[in-house]
Amino acid sequence: MKFEELKISDKLKEGVESFNYSELTEIQEKAIPVILQSKDLLACSQTGSGKTAAFLIPIIEHILNIKTKGIKALIITPTREICKQIEEQIVGLGYYTGTSYFAVYGGNDHDGFSRQKAALTQGADIVVATPGRLISHLALGYVNISNLEFLVLDEADEMLDMGFYEDILNIIGKLPKKRQTLMFSATMPNAIRKLAKEILTEPYILDLNFSKPAEEIDQQVYMVYEKDKPQMLANVLKEHKDDKILVFTSTKVSVGKISTYLRTVGIKNSSINSSYTQTERNDTILDFKSGKIRILIATNLLSRGIDIDDVNLIINYEIPDKAEDYVHRIGRTARAGKLGLAVSFIGEKEILNFNRIEKLLEKEIAKLPNPDNIPQGPTYRQINTGKKRYFKNKKSTLIKKPRK
Ligand code: AMP
Repeated sequence: MKFEELKISDKLKEGVESFNYSELTEIQEKAIPVILQSKDLLACSQTGSGKTAAFLIPIIEHILNIKTKGIKALIITPTREICKQIEEQIVGLGYYTGTSYFAVYGGNDHDGFSRQKAALTQGADIVVATPGRLISHLALGYVNISNLEFLVLDEADEMLDMGFYEDILNIIGKLPKKRQTLMFSATMPNAIRKLAKEILTEPYILDLNFSKPAEEIDQQVYMVYEKDKPQMLANVLKEHKDDKILVFTSTKVSVGKISTYLRTVGIKNSSINSSYTQTERNDTILDFKSGKIRILIATNLLSRGIDIDDVNLIINYEIPDKAEDYVHRIGRTARAGKLGLAVSFIGEKEILNFNRIEKLLEKEIAKLPNPDNIPQGPTYRQINTGKKRYFKNKKSTLIKKPRK
């Protein structure tokens, strides 16, 4: 379906045109009409599927027809980075409609808080916020929320994983009951279903079967001992001299180590993790987006929702503990239908993690032979995850159950 066919105002269409999208993505085609009909929505959708525009387009369209003052739409997201990302799309889509917006997230200075307070008191049309910072403002009583019509929970599963369940309920308790609520989540665990039951009214459920990575991602996997990973990484990076590359590790410590190692072997790179200041994080992401930085080493901080165009190669230097994180990480490539490559190194202690990933993907991924200068790694096998046979004795200490 083409955007011209959408029943939205010309001003909004002009905003959409500025992005040069040709066709609606699947989530947009399915969700936009539902949202325009004022229905609640629970959408299970993959990152990179175009879901931000899927909720922003109908929300901006609706706001064009509302005359009330105050905040009309509240979008809650797990991280500041995603907040900023959504803000950027509002700027583009709403450019000709005059829709006002404000992003509210922590990690900035006192002035930042005061500006947020002013915006929340006056009431921008759309407010995009992280839960913690929003709660601080709501608790102070000045947030102009009585005319709110839309609530969006973006990356809802991630927010629950980060422990925001109570915060979200707390926020929702302060909002008008009569409103349209849209919930987007990459996965659909029980906790999400439970939250959906509590906060949605007869929702339209859109399950685009998305715990799976996009078809366009070529997944390559190597078995590599931990000690050989730095050299293996250097090998792969040297093979992809022109690509925009995101390297994922599991900890801040390994981000630093890898980044330093690569520099010692002459490979320029930048790194990002949660201990960097907000300004450093923003600058690094901007430089990566613009192409100033070609190789970026990151923790899971960047695995979700961050929309960076043209990443051609994702490297999982370490295999994530949670299978879903693998899907999110490799979802940074092959955005909106482009081709992408994901290369993963399975170390001797990561075989079980990869077993879980293959289970989630419902397929095995071929393990490729290592290049000549890297020793062959551990043997891949299925590890029995059968629960350990423990029971509690009278003193309540855990002891191993004797086999019969
Ligand atoms: P999202 O899933 O919202 O993070 O979007 C992922 C990327 O897809 C962003 O770069 C969007 O600008 C882009 N995008 C959104 N809608 C479309 C579309 N209809 N056609 C092509 N790209 C799109």
